[in-house]
Amino acid sequence: MTSRADDLDGRPGSSPGEALPGGAPRRVFLETYGCQMNVADSELVRGLLARDGWVVVPDPAEADAILVNTCAIRENAEERVLGRFTQLLQHKQTRPGVQLGLLGCVATHQRERLLDRAPWIDLIVGPDGYRDLPELLRGGTDPRIEVRLDRDETYADLAPDLAPGPRAFLTVMRGCDKFCTFCVVPFTRGRERSLPAEAVLEQVRSAVGEGKREVVLLGQTVNAWRHDGLDFGDLLRRVARVPGVERIRFTSPHPSDVGESMIDAMAGEEKVMPWLHLPLQSASDPVLAAMQRGYGLDEYRRLLERIRERIPGIAVSTDVIVGFPGETEADFEATENFLRETRYDFAYLFKYSAREGTRAWKIEETVDEAEKGRRLERLIALQEAISLERHREQVGREAEVLVEGPSKRPPGHVHGKTRDFKTAVLPGDGIEAGDLVRVRIEDATAHTLLARPLGIASTLEGVGRSASVTRESGRPEGDVTSR
Ligand code: SF4
Repeated sequence: MTSRADDLDGRPGSSPGEALPGGAPRRVFLETYGCQMNVADSELVRGLLARDGWVVVPDPAEADAILVNTCAIRENAEERVLGRFTQLLQHKQTRPGVQLGLLGCVATHQRERLLDRAPWIDLIVGPDGYRDLPELLRGGTDPRIEVRLDRDETYADLAPDLAPGPRAFLTVMRGCDKFCTFCVVPFTRGRERSLPAEAVLEQVRSAVGEGKREVVLLGQTVNAWRHDGLDFGDLLRRVARVPGVERIRFTSPHPSDVGESMIDAMAGEEKVMPWLHLPLQSASDPVLAAMQRGYGLDEYRRLLERIRERIPGIAVSTDVIVGFPGETEADFEATENFLRETRYDFAYLFKYSAREGTRAWKIEETVDEAEKGRRLERLIALQEAISLERHREQVGREAEVLVEGPSKRPPGHVHGKTRDFKTAVLPGDGIEAGDLVRVRIEDATAHTLLARPLGIASTLEGVGRSASVTRESGRPEGDVTSR
């Protein structure tokens, strides 16, 4: 695609990527949609652009480049992206030098149609093309599209610009080799690649140096991480040895990649938190086979039993899709019954929607939208009741909360996560973001534990770090599924 920025930019001496007249730095606005991997990619992009002299601004009206990091997982991604870009076009119309850039999975998945429908988008860059962004923004290549999938790109050498908050999300592997029939990820993010262990450890050390107390290792199938003869369990053990790391989480593992080494690390390492997100998708063997998930229900059930045996009290969450082509009422009921049996702590529940380019795209749909909606409502009601029961079991117990910042309500309260990834809200007097607080759980809803502080176990200053920690905002927290 040919950029029109140069034609439209009336400002002398302000070619893209260079400082503005008077030496003012170029300003970029970056908006992110989708899963935690995308949020982490945006941190990577911010780091890259900062090294190229760009300054991140919070308002598109102030920006010389407006970038939108997109997600192709949900329905109508193309329409939603176009809708957003149509809103953002006003900035280009009033300030013609502004560049509009589309990043992320939609860039890879829908580039042809987007080029046709929105030729005024200046650059289109997929998840493996971010290294070229500074050059692309300078207008140094024409057309300004970089959507090739790269089997080697891990960005292992690039430091992300981490968002504020006590938790760091660090990508340790990219891509996916599983090709579940409903999923676009292998087509938008390419094949599996693991960062070297030393690169991960360096990022963890750097995050700790910035005041992070918890690290979340990310990957589309994070436990498929392998490098130089090490497996994911080895990586967890090495991360746990980094001085200053207090909590370690990871998401999302794939059931087929859970090995004894990983379970051993979870059971044996105090710093690996007792929470596991283990996507199920369906509890019907025929549906699992049609999804090509690579496991059957018995295998999944036995795996979960083994994990719960080895790590008593572990919280478990999952993903479920209802209405996959061919899912009968009996298949759906099998899933409903399995949720009852398993009593997940929480679950991300979705209606199936076909994604162009996937194998399931070609399978005729058999469950209409109304029926999908009905099944989804049934599962939501069931899971809400289970989550409430699970939360109520916590009342009267003590827990440790890593405080993230002020709670939206009630006033004067803060919120944070327990070791098993439950959201707790507590009175905030004398408590700062980044504090680890001992609490007693006094009440519970399906989504939140209401807690009373018993004492601050440790503060950021108490562990000898000085980074200022403010409230994390805008994170689709927990929305880090393997889908
Ligand atoms: S659902 Fe997860 S495991 Fe399956 S193809 Fe998508 S990213 Fe890979």
